[in-house]
Amino acid sequence: MKNLIFYFTISLCFIFNSCQEKVNETNPPETTTTRSGPPNIVVIFCDDLGYGDLGTYGHPSIVTPNLDKMASEGQKWTNFYVGASVCTPSRAALLTGRYPIRSGMCSDKSRVLFPNSINGLPESEITLAEALKEKGYKTTCIGKWHLGHKKQFLPTNNGFDSYFGIPYSNDMDRKGKFEYWDEADNIPIAHYNVPLLQDTREIERPAEQHTITKRYTEKAVEYIKENKEEPFFIYLAHNLPHIPLFTSPEFKGSSLRGLYGDVIQEIDNGVGKILSTLKEEGLAENTLVVFTSDNGPWRSFKDHGGSSGLLRAGKGTTWEGGMRVPGIFWWPGKINPGVQTGMGSTMDIYTTAIKLAGGEVPSDRIVDGLDLSETLFSNATSPRDHLIYYRGQSIFAARLGNFKAHYITQGAYGMFGKKEVHNTPLLYNLSVDPSEEYEISEAHQEEITKINTLIANHKKDLVVGKDMLADRE
Ligand code: MG
Repeated sequence: MKNLIFYFTISLCFIFNSCQEKVNETNPPETTTTRSGPPNIVVIFCDDLGYGDLGTYGHPSIVTPNLDKMASEGQKWTNFYVGASVCTPSRAALLTGRYPIRSGMCSDKSRVLFPNSINGLPESEITLAEALKEKGYKTTCIGKWHLGHKKQFLPTNNGFDSYFGIPYSNDMDRKGKFEYWDEADNIPIAHYNVPLLQDTREIERPAEQHTITKRYTEKAVEYIKENKEEPFFIYLAHNLPHIPLFTSPEFKGSSLRGLYGDVIQEIDNGVGKILSTLKEEGLAENTLVVFTSDNGPWRSFKDHGGSSGLLRAGKGTTWEGGMRVPGIFWWPGKINPGVQTGMGSTMDIYTTAIKLAGGEVPSDRIVDGLDLSETLFSNATSPRDHLIYYRGQSIFAARLGNFKAHYITQGAYGMFGKKEVHNTPLLYNLSVDPSEEYEISEAHQEEITKINTLIANHKKDLVVGKDMLADRE
């Protein structure tokens, strides 16, 4: 009998402890809010990080404990999309809340801006930073800009109080003739002579890219500490893991996945530092942090490019691997934690953030972003049920509900097939077939008709912006 009571007591303790652990896992960390009012907004935007590159999205050998924790404390979106599958238009979509076809930040002549490009984001666009500034936010841009490197197009002329970063991709301003693979694991920084800017001033060239991820994180942490009394917006756009890959010495060799994994693990470490700073400063319960990427992985660089996981193809294409990316939202005590399978887009960050700030989304133009806050806070069905997939200025595909129709398919960077126009669009059910393997147009003509109508409606009020990418010096 004594033994029985002993085992019964031990079992009760065990059950109690496990329950307690579960509660601790799901409860947000304790913080003291020092300031009420509109929330701080932090957007962490990676370059070419794929859908399958994080532990929490299933990568088996890249270890991302900070992002995994962020996802478990917040909401992890599994159908989260960018506005275009390459850098410049994708960034324009995020910061304007609009398909880049409207702002002119996409082109059939040049997929992105280059160091000899003449133009940038038109002044008439209202960036997220400009909209938040209207509501009294302090704003900073840290990292890759890629919306025009000439002074008038830089962040400080687009609503940001300050800027620290490389104004375009880290592989531009290439110097000399060399094969990437000859030196891939140890690239001299001078081979990519990119500038590092403070506001509009060049402060370093070539930018020391081995420490760039670390320095971007340090800038963000510093900014949080210095601006905790007022609402702030930090747009932290990492230059990495875009190729060429660079990492700080302390992360080199840290991952089983090789250099690419080292880079992701350094980014993950930085996310951990940012979130713990917000907690330490008592700001966590008044800050929305979003982590996402600008497009899918650059797969032509083999194991130096990332992974789109179970999604098809990668960067540059309108297959899912090019456009669907990780999307993690974190706001302890406010966001209803869980996995969100509804659709969302980086354009929705624009509208959601402006509404949370108590601002007005511009009404004199079409804004494609939707307010996701109800879904974030109460797990309500996402307001987004469709997405148009542009490549340059052409519509290649569209998704409505579970179904996606491809009107044109084309590979990128010599991979994934030649350009093909499909008179009967290719149709996939993305909920049962996220890898786009089983074409079902014959059995579901009615879904194609619905998607045709969606596109016709989209085109009805479409005003195509002047191509800002085509002209070069
Ligand atoms: Mg990119």
